[in-house]
Amino acid sequence: SYVVTENCIKCKYQDCVEVCPVDCFYEGANFLVINPDECIDCGVCEPECPAEAIVPDSEERAAPWTEINRKYASVW
Ligand code: SF4
Repeated sequence: SYVVTENCIKCKYQDCVEVCPVDCFYEGANFLVINPDECIDCGVCEPECPAEAIVPDSEERAAPWTEINRKYASVW
């Protein structure tokens, strides 16, 4: 799945949320997260993010964020 990384912190754009076909974005502490169990890997959100915060979880810079996305997405 895709994950939201540090560039999203305090970002107030919601472009990704609007394009996601399965509504799997959730509010984290001060950033958005993607629920990895709901993400269908479509990739539509990645180019929509003005902060370039969204990456596939196969990418190295996603690594520390994968668990954070899962954790915050399950709180709600
Ligand atoms: Fe939603 Fe697709 Fe982005 Fe996953 S990759 S969060 S399903 S828009």
